[in-house]
Amino acid sequence: MIPTLIELARPLPPLTYLAPEGLQVGMRVHVKVRNSLTWGLVLGSDANPPRAKLKPIEAVLDPFPLLPPKLRDLLKFAADYYGCGLAHLMALCLPQHVQADWQTPLSEGERLCDLRAADSWQRLMDIGDAWHDGRQSLPSLFHRRELRGAGLTEVCRTSLPHPVKVNATQGRVLSALETAGGSMLESELIETAQVSASVLNTLEKHGLIERVRRLDLLSQKREDVVHKQVVLNEEQRKAIDGIAMQTFGVHLLYGVTGSGKTEVYLELAQRVLESGKRVLWLVPEIGLTPRLLARLEARFPGRVAVGHAGLNNTEKQADVVRLLKDEAPLFVGVRNAVLAPLRDIGLIVVDEEQEASYKSEEHPRINARDLAIKRAQIENCPIVLGTATPSLESWHAAQSGRYKLLQLLERPAGSQLPRVLVVDLRECYKAARKKVVFSPLLLKAMNETLERREQVMLLLNRRGFENFWMCRACGRTLDCPHCSVSLTFHKGAYRLRCHLCGWETAPPEICPHCGTEHLRGVGEGTEQIEDQLSALFPAARILRLDRDTTQRRGALEAGLLAAEQGEVDILVGTQMLAKGHTFPKLTLVGILNADLGLKIADFRAAERTFHLLTQVAGRAGRADLPGRVILQTYSPDHPAIVHAVAQNFIGFAEAELPYRQGMGYPPYAAMSLYRSEGESPEAAIEPLRQLKTRLATIPSLRILGPLEAPIAKVKDRYRMQLILKARIRNSLSEAMHLAPIKPDGPITLDRDPLSFGT
Ligand code: ADP
Ligand code: ZN
Repeated sequence: MIPTLIELARPLPPLTYLAPEGLQVGMRVHVKVRNSLTWGLVLGSDANPPRAKLKPIEAVLDPFPLLPPKLRDLLKFAADYYGCGLAHLMALCLPQHVQADWQTPLSEGERLCDLRAADSWQRLMDIGDAWHDGRQSLPSLFHRRELRGAGLTEVCRTSLPHPVKVNATQGRVLSALETAGGSMLESELIETAQVSASVLNTLEKHGLIERVRRLDLLSQKREDVVHKQVVLNEEQRKAIDGIAMQTFGVHLLYGVTGSGKTEVYLELAQRVLESGKRVLWLVPEIGLTPRLLARLEARFPGRVAVGHAGLNNTEKQADVVRLLKDEAPLFVGVRNAVLAPLRDIGLIVVDEEQEASYKSEEHPRINARDLAIKRAQIENCPIVLGTATPSLESWHAAQSGRYKLLQLLERPAGSQLPRVLVVDLRECYKAARKKVVFSPLLLKAMNETLERREQVMLLLNRRGFENFWMCRACGRTLDCPHCSVSLTFHKGAYRLRCHLCGWETAPPEICPHCGTEHLRGVGEGTEQIEDQLSALFPAARILRLDRDTTQRRGALEAGLLAAEQGEVDILVGTQMLAKGHTFPKLTLVGILNADLGLKIADFRAAERTFHLLTQVAGRAGRADLPGRVILQTYSPDHPAIVHAVAQNFIGFAEAELPYRQGMGYPPYAAMSLYRSEGESPEAAIEPLRQLKTRLATIPSLRILGPLEAPIAKVKDRYRMQLILKARIRNSLSEAMHLAPIKPDGPITLDRDPLSFGT
């Protein structure tokens, strides 16, 4: 046994334990930390062990590193680049419960555990290497842990608080659910909590839990997608011919929705699979892409594995095990799928590459699109970034020749750009002498559309009933006592709520600041729009989709499905509406206030607004039914709005890029965002001041701050930030090495941050 560095997936520096000699970096072990058992990752032997008496590890979990060698290289790169522990990344690619079976037979009656007993770690490593490059097969290395109960009824905790009094059996159910993160398969739950189904019935009656049948993503709606082999058109063939299949290269495939990008990916994937290699396919959100999954499954039956952040453990595990066993050569998934244990990748697809969901907003703050490019480089294979509205980063890279630009300019047969009409809300205000939510033009168009029995979609990117409450006498707003934001009124629940920490209160009758009765709501939200719509169109079937109505898992998918099947006349909601299903009868899209997103203090506000508006506008109309878009705005001359109205990405990029260049923002510079929190503003800012002093020696850095974060307080913690800008990325890596962030310290680092507004 030798002193060995073990890293936990916790905010702690690596710890030193005694472990058998010969364990390799990347193997998992069980260790005890303060008497509780947890898994950790071997980082290597510790050359300078602490003097204290060392504890031995409890067990070695993996016979050898289970991740393919190239993926291990990617993790090392990511750990270094984002400044996070390997164990944190490991947790994203290998569910904790996926474990090798030590009883696996080798040859002549020998089993893996015999080698462990003999401390033959080198032989185990050799077996691992042989298994990874396909020279040795280990068919029983992973049990597929009981995927019992294909019925797949899921039990979820509702938002009702845990009651003070429950009996012991009910308590076991609730605490099992809470331990599991809120939901479990019914069969698992019954076993874990040792209860009968009748206990669940009672809890369900009391509203404490609910049962949902999980949407079976692969089988959903499969019947209506007949696998049709299309004949690729000239542009699609040119795009495919433009991709060298045997070598690394980044390709930006730019084409409007429906221009045939997916057919290009499918053709490429087919070629790669035929050559015996694997395909990694990333999408921004899986619940919203049932058609894609159906198309994949139809084209490559039985060969597709799906990664889904929302699936429960058993299912996640099942698909990862299929990858490890090399049973599914095509893996489609969301952000973390970029770290999926696929070996020998021949193609990576990143669909809708501009989507913010590829960036993790919690530790480890990886960007899956960027890591996918790195992974393609390590695998020496092509990567295709597809999009109808490229991120300015990718567009700039394509313009400067770092990425290869492939374009699909032809519109699919028969379809045409929807007609976009702009309504100037300032004019409406003048005419009506009051604030106008639905302009006369929009109301007229809605009436016409509903009369024709077609569908209307209304976008308002603000949830709740009213944005905030203000007192007209003293001018102050009702704010969250714990966060520096104002409370939002939710009429249905009759509560004022904080959207950051969830604190809520009954709305007061009088202003708590001045005691007068002049409180009123300002700025309508989706909930109020829904109310107004029911008054204006009493006969219409209205569906609201926002974060408040889609908390229950599957609710968004179910709502979209209903709309798709024509069960909804007016769909109203936030940006959730921008993506996902196609609605055959949607011919009118109304954007109630296009400017909302422009007010955010973030240099990407215009880009995001442009993306959102173009995406939503693109939802109107199909080949056979022409669509109309009515866009209401107070700033019709803003470039993001002008170009969204014209559906002109290149025009927008040409207007926006010089501004970015002038201000020294990405894509012309790289940024790092350091944040720190504390009990007081002073406690939060001090660590950043010290950091700044240490960084002063790097000449090529621009340091902004430390300053208050845009939201200066959340849950009673004060927040400060320091921003670094550099022309070359390497200066930021240099900064990380010069002043490393302690995993258990007060500072967090967000490299290549996407969101500045919070
Ligand atoms: P995108 O991914 O760009 O949104 P898709 O690949 O999904 O576009 O294509 C949109 C529709 O057009 C699909 O139904 C697809 O099958 C069809 N399609 C694409 N390319 C062709 C083609 N060359 N010939 C006939 N149909 C096509
Ligand atoms: Zn709050």
